[in-house]
Amino acid sequence: MTPLDHIVRERIALDGPMRVSDFMQMCLLHPQYGYYVNNPVFGVQGDFITAPEISQMFGELLGLCLAQAWMDQGASEDFHLLELGPGRGTLMSDILRATRSLPGMQRAAKVTLLEASETMKQRQKETLSGYRVNWISSLDELAEKPIYVVANEFFDALPIRQYVRVDDAWHERLIGLQDDKLGFGLSPIAQTGDYLQMRLDDTQDGDIVEVSEPTKSIICQLSKHIQTHGGCALIIDYGEWTSKGDTLQAVLDHKYSNVLQALGDTDLTAHVDFEQVARACQCQASKMCTQQDLLERLGISDRAQTLVTSAGNETQKNDVLSAYRRLTHEEEMGTLFKAISLFPHNGPSPAGFEA
Ligand code: SAH
Repeated sequence: MTPLDHIVRERIALDGPMRVSDFMQMCLLHPQYGYYVNNPVFGVQGDFITAPEISQMFGELLGLCLAQAWMDQGASEDFHLLELGPGRGTLMSDILRATRSLPGMQRAAKVTLLEASETMKQRQKETLSGYRVNWISSLDELAEKPIYVVANEFFDALPIRQYVRVDDAWHERLIGLQDDKLGFGLSPIAQTGDYLQMRLDDTQDGDIVEVSEPTKSIICQLSKHIQTHGGCALIIDYGEWTSKGDTLQAVLDHKYSNVLQALGDTDLTAHVDFEQVARACQCQASKMCTQQDLLERLGISDRAQTLVTSAGNETQKNDVLSAYRRLTHEEEMGTLFKAISLFPHNGPSPAGFEA
């Protein structure tokens, strides 16, 4: 048993069954034993590998997309270049390298990272040592200026609550203890808002619907800021338009594992429900598209071709081609991962997205 296995059991023994959201929060960000505090090992050797860790092409294309949006909106001389949940800092590093040829942009950009884990901050400091970077722990710390935002695999790490439909009512899924074993159970009928009321139309008895309150509040705050001060947000994550079913998953050493075991050692995520993102948005939201469509529209084929041409040997060539495939192919990340952008009402939609 991990230290967090004990802590969660003690907490349930004391306070009763726990919401899935509180469980996720503890497993990911417990100040001593949380996954992002204790196991910040993603990359090739880690538990999972994210798009920017697969290839520099991902960050370069998103960087150019942000640069185009910045120019389309008048090339503000003072703005936040903001990343949510930057992991090892690779994506921001690729964005900054790709936009170096726009000196006006780099001068105007206040590089800002929203990060909850001190351990991850240290990793980001190392990766971005050549740049001036500000860390924030809440969007309240943003100044009143335009924000150009990127978030890759950030929202899937935010806590969700799960509701199970029983007849025409919703019960919250809770984690409890039986004979010292963790297991799922149900709350009495839960008080729910308009959204779950609406989901009675497309669900049946026994179906699970997930709701992420932190996602809603971050999108609400971000989009209000974009509407008032300008900018845009590019959000990429795995998920679908409307979630149905239990999508909470644990990954350990590149393999799925039991969400109720090895707490703090496994990475816990849930699919992002893009309809809930769009509903919380207070500015314009683009249509959702697949990562494949976005990257192709931003020119990944040409970029891959250029890298293949300049590759020094066959191994490098094959690395580029295999990264291209991993990022765009249906059987890899191409269609499981989706993208959406947020931008001001009546403003230009960021390149690669349809308004
Ligand atoms: N975007 C990165 C890594 C994604 S992992 C990439 O593409 O490689 C999720 C990141 O979000 C980690 O850096 C984690 O520490 C951070 N994170 C998780 N929950 C957070 C929260 N509530 N607030 C801020 N950062 C959070």
